[in-house]
Amino acid sequence: MDASTTDVWNQKTETSMAENAAAVPETMTAVINHGPEDYRLETIPVPTPAEGEMLMKVEAVGICASDLKCYHGAAKFWGDENRPAWAQTGVVPGHEFVGTIVQADEVALKRHGVQVGDRVACEQIVPCWECRYCLRGQYWMCGPHDMFGFRNYNGAMAEYLIVPFKALPHKVDSSIPPHHAAFAEPLSCSLHAVERADIQFNDVVVIAGCGPIGLGMVAGARQKNPLKIIALDASDAKLELAKKCGADLTINILNEDAVQIVKDLTDGYGADVYIEGTGHPSAVGQGLNLLAKLGRYVEYSVFGSDVTVDWSIISDDKELDVRGAHLGPHCWPAAIKLIESGILPLDEICTNQFPLDKFQEGIDLVGDTAGSSVKVSLLP
Ligand SMILES: [Zn+2]
Ligand SMILES: [Zn+2]
Repeated sequence: MDASTTDVWNQKTETSMAENAAAVPETMTAVINHGPEDYRLETIPVPTPAEGEMLMKVEAVGICASDLKCYHGAAKFWGDENRPAWAQTGVVPGHEFVGTIVQADEVALKRHGVQVGDRVACEQIVPCWECRYCLRGQYWMCGPHDMFGFRNYNGAMAEYLIVPFKALPHKVDSSIPPHHAAFAEPLSCSLHAVERADIQFNDVVVIAGCGPIGLGMVAGARQKNPLKIIALDASDAKLELAKKCGADLTINILNEDAVQIVKDLTDGYGADVYIEGTGHPSAVGQGLNLLAKLGRYVEYSVFGSDVTVDWSIISDDKELDVRGAHLGPHCWPAAIKLIESGILPLDEICTNQFPLDKFQEGIDLVGDTAGSSVKVSLLP
């Protein structure tokens, strides 16, 4: 490329950057976390991307169970006598989001391999890339653990959001409805839990909980095609959805004995894999009891209180593998592919969409566990 061609190209870039800048207003509406049960809709300046950062126009943001726990003041977020607060006030919540890149410099575009106009979803964690975990490639365990919507980085319950240099955006096809595309974040978490279960073809897999995460686990387990996938929940409607996501059998724990049914189905041995996604303490003992010896227990949930179980089931009785699962490392391309494939009943999983100014209704609906909502989203 000779100098004059470069100049023309630079001019074009400058013009398009200027056009994009002109289209971005000076202020925007955003939800601000002022502390437990005090989230407010406010008008704040649209952030200006610094070098290496991108400005995203937010299209959709899902409301997560963790958003609800933070909103209601759970100790994991706000601290107690054993731990300091991790969430910060003054931050815009929202970490399950998708949007279009409207401004970015060459440094950012090169870093992330995207173009202005691309639609992306970002991993929830913004790794430091300096701690022991990040340096070993285990970025989802990053020590400082900064996350969109909780700590140091504003989330997506706003019209615009900064995608920092350190973030991990992934491109999503722009033909997907935005609230479906934003499901990539929870789905990647589900897929990681499924990978942690190390599912084999001959396994009987039990998945506890058919909320957004549990349904994603069922869909992910289906991709692994084990002998049998059994979904547990207290809602018949959610169990119907689990069938559409690929469950072979469903058990309503309110009126059926899950442990007995699983034992009867397996000649008395029990399941090979149990993935816990309810966050309810009773689901822990249930899993330990319905697993076969040498089974694998995967814990995904965040619990509101301590859980007491007989640990000798893990050791002396069954020699179980107990594995945690957190976030969706290395599962984003697969999650996005699954969403783009159209095989998930996303119209039925994404039950409710609200505009940004109805955020309180959205949060309250996620908290209404007796209700029929599954994934609640805001469309800023
Ligand atoms: Zn989430
Ligand atoms: Zn780190």
